Amino acid sequence: MKRFDVVVLGAGIVGICVALHLQKRARSVALVDRRGPAEETSFGNAGLIQREGVYPYGFPHDFGALLRYGLNRTIDAHYHPSALPRLVPFLWQYWRHSRPARHAQVARRYAKLIEHCVLEHEALAAEADAGGFIRRVGWMRLFRTARERDTRFAEAERWRREFGINHRALDARALQEMEPHLAPVLVGALHWTDPISVDDPHGLALAYLRRFESLGGVFLQGNAASLEQDASRWRMRTASGPLEAASAVVALGPWADVLTRALGYHFPLAVKRGYHMHYRAAGEARLNHPVLDTERGYFLGALRRGIRLTTGAEFALRDAKRTPVQLARAEPIARELFPLAERLDAEPWMGSRPCTPDMLPVIGRAPRHPGLWFAFGHAHHGLTLGPVTGRLIAEMMTGEKPFVDPAPYAAERF
Ligand SMILES: Cc1cc2nc3c(=O)[nH]c(=O)nc-3n(C[C@H](O)[C@H](O)[C@H](O)COP(=O)(O)OP(=O)(O)OC[C@H]3O[C@@H](n4cnc5c(N)ncnc54)[C@H](O)[C@@H]3O)c2cc1C
Repeated sequence: MKRFDVVVLGAGIVGICVALHLQKRARSVALVDRRGPAEETSFGNAGLIQREGVYPYGFPHDFGALLRYGLNRTIDAHYHPSALPRLVPFLWQYWRHSRPARHAQVARRYAKLIEHCVLEHEALAAEADAGGFIRRVGWMRLFRTARERDTRFAEAERWRREFGINHRALDARALQEMEPHLAPVLVGALHWTDPISVDDPHGLALAYLRRFESLGGVFLQGNAASLEQDASRWRMRTASGPLEAASAVVALGPWADVLTRALGYHFPLAVKRGYHMHYRAAGEARLNHPVLDTERGYFLGALRRGIRLTTGAEFALRDAKRTPVQLARAEPIARELFPLAERLDAEPWMGSRPCTPDMLPVIGRAPRHPGLWFAFGHAHHGLTLGPVTGRLIAEMMTGEKPFVDPAPYAAERF
């Protein structure tokens, strides 16, 4: 029987950062996943570390948007009608937390985590020798209509005043100078200058994992379903034999509820699935910044593998059949916007954003199990917040003063 101080369940970006921060604090840590490290949601995201993302993505409240989404023909959102009966309780709560006044409250709590995201990544990347993955060029929201542009510029001004987030408002000419290969169909762009991005999210996660291992941490393969509490210890089976630990951290992302339900907790979790595909940039075309085609609702970024197109939210059951219709709708529009050559992947990749209805992650102690901790529900921002969550939970577990007040993220709120 191998003995550790902590077993961290789930080696996505969140679990890796939790494990690394605990190991840095001289705890002996086993990080366990049923697959290889960061091969699920953390593998294929858009690579943004969203310093501007203080307002987590809410459920739309205006009638026009609801009607458009209801018809199920948009690019930015898609749903499986057959999943609605199971999703309605989640969607109802999500809708309520997205009402403007409540959303603003949520944002003030969320901002306390988001404000550290760049610094915490920079710190881990420096010690993991992973600075080569990071691009410090911000990202851009592109606009096709003056109406959307002006609404977003006004919103960005409010966020500058309230949260100190910086941006540049670009007119069509300034945008063409910065992105000469985008088709001249745009009326401007909002350039968020504080965020950073990574050109290979999987590579970055593996670099953090190597840092964890270099400090003595151990990565093992095993199924979290075998976790059992025995007196005051947690035990589980792994491919390398049984292990036991004083504490366990559930960092299973979209699968967190499989384990928490078995332990008697009923979190109202759901997933927003998303897809990606890579393309070769045609000829000499270059994309200098990650960009969101705002009115159409898809994302393009230049990653190591090629130009990565990522899609918005698909409301479906986590394990339902893949339906990359948003990708099929976005691709021809993206080809008109930027010169894309052939696809580079045989099949679209899919990941599931692990979502809570109040848009805040669950970070903290399990209410009814001593030694059990939760770190999941990071939705659209798991890459952004991995190192922040890792540090916060490690500080809570080791009795240090937490650098962020953890109260808003406690499991008890459900
Ligand atoms: C299309 C798309 C684009 C995105 N873009 C961004 C972005 O630009 N910026 C950003 O910040 N976020 C982005 N996200 C969100 C981000 O990818 C997620 O929030 C993040 O990856 C979640 O990390 P995680 O570690 O919680 O979950 P995961 O990465 O899914 O890790 C969970 C781990 O648990 C393991 N596991 C599951 N069940 C078991 C079991 N029974 N036993 C053992 N192990 C198990 C899985 O194998 C997996 O490795 C995007 C997501 C998608 C889908």
